[in-house]
Amino acid sequence: MSDKNYSFFGAVERSFDKAAKFTKWEQGILEQIKACNAVYQMRFPLKRDDGSVEVIEAYRVQHSQHKTPCKGGIRFAAEVNQDEVMALAALMTYKCAIVNVPFGGGKGGIRINPKKYSAYELEKITRRYTAELIKKNFIGPGTDVPAPDYGTGEREMAWIVDTYSAMHPGEIDAAGCVTGKPVSQGGVRGRREATGLGVFFGIREVCNMEDVMKKLGLPAGVEGKRIAVQGLGNVGYHTAKFFQDAGAIIVGLSEHDGAIYNESGLDVDDVFNDRKKTGSILKYVKAKQFAQKEEMLEMECDILIPAALENVIDGENAPRIRAKLIGEAANGPLTPDADEILAKRGIIVVPDMYLNAGGVTVSYFEWLKNLSHVRYGRMEKRFNENMNSHILGQMEALTGKKVSEREKEYILHGADEVDLVYSGLEETMIGATHEIMNEWKNNPEIPDMRTAAYVVAINKVAITYAELGIFP
Ligand code: NAD
Repeated sequence: MSDKNYSFFGAVERSFDKAAKFTKWEQGILEQIKACNAVYQMRFPLKRDDGSVEVIEAYRVQHSQHKTPCKGGIRFAAEVNQDEVMALAALMTYKCAIVNVPFGGGKGGIRINPKKYSAYELEKITRRYTAELIKKNFIGPGTDVPAPDYGTGEREMAWIVDTYSAMHPGEIDAAGCVTGKPVSQGGVRGRREATGLGVFFGIREVCNMEDVMKKLGLPAGVEGKRIAVQGLGNVGYHTAKFFQDAGAIIVGLSEHDGAIYNESGLDVDDVFNDRKKTGSILKYVKAKQFAQKEEMLEMECDILIPAALENVIDGENAPRIRAKLIGEAANGPLTPDADEILAKRGIIVVPDMYLNAGGVTVSYFEWLKNLSHVRYGRMEKRFNENMNSHILGQMEALTGKKVSEREKEYILHGADEVDLVYSGLEETMIGATHEIMNEWKNNPEIPDMRTAAYVVAINKVAITYAELGIFP
């Protein structure tokens, strides 16, 4: 069957089945892992600003309750439908398992184009949606914890936590009912750039594997790698920026209105700020333009990072891709047909399901912060700084030498919240990359990294069921 015969959820099931063959679990366990445990479809009225009444269609899916709470974003988009929410919820189950975040997968969606509603209408929709979730026990710090996704952000999360808290007076852990909140409402520092940073950590780790890079005909390391990024939004901008800071060369960037390139490198902030001023990436003068924005995907580069939309590389353009490694920062940028073609061509695809897990990993840190009611670093920062100062003083006295002011500042610094969040994310992404790569290396029949990632996820979820004694 080709791409066109599969729904989004069908495509996720197809990838699952492809990987399940490499596991030892019986069919019943696999069917249980694959199934969506609970699908809540709702409709409620909205009185619009002009006095008319509209019926709003919305969903919350809990794909797996093998661990609770369930976790996954809420999407506001005109295309939202049950199949899409189910597919995204399933991906969350596997994503959480791979990065060892102890949650089941969930996802929510409201079928609206948020650009067509006033802020007041959006607030009413978000608060009513939250109330509907509360009525059916589909939200709560121990049951189901939403987060931002396409079309939603800190503002919507603030409305959700406010509605939940108002309807649960005295619930001490109420702030943990949703993540991605503003810091003033219990959010965590570092959440905004978390997904891009996770993408960077994940690809950097693959680049540091000499045997893998040798197969691709590339030297190990990130420095000097030529990188093209599709989409300069939250994920694309931060990913590109972290790569540039690490010494990579950003050779191509694309946005919804066009694509630009410069073989000697584009300065990410310069392009970003120029676009903010002029309104278009195409007005940037220190670059050449592609005639069609899609051509950027096919440009000569080492690493291609789609960070915008679904299904941008399919059976049609996959044969023309010239990158040696593709990092799926967006959700679902490759179709199953593209996967097969690229695997045959020896191009490594670092899969979305784990590569863009930085958001959910830091969401987990935010949830832990909410349950512990204390900012990361608050207890130990000053103690560590005093101790570091004491140790350095002793060393200087014993050696008779002084370190530079710059070194001193670095050594004395006690960890802030953002330092600890970055460090936890780095550890998570490095660990997950090695687990997936080891699975792939240990079984040469596994055709690609996505399948290896699914194998890791299936094994972790299945073990939980087995250990619960559900499947003796
Ligand atoms: P965003 O809206 O901030 O950015 C998307 C960008 O892509 C926008 O700047 C948009 O103009 C641009 N774009 C639209 N059409 C394009 C086209 N045809 N070519 C090039 N650029 C185009 O969204 P985001 O939060 O950065 O999310 C991007 C992707 O990453 C989505 O697939 C999302 O599901 C996924 N993702 C995001 C997060 C997160 O924490 N934000 C976490 C996991 C996965």
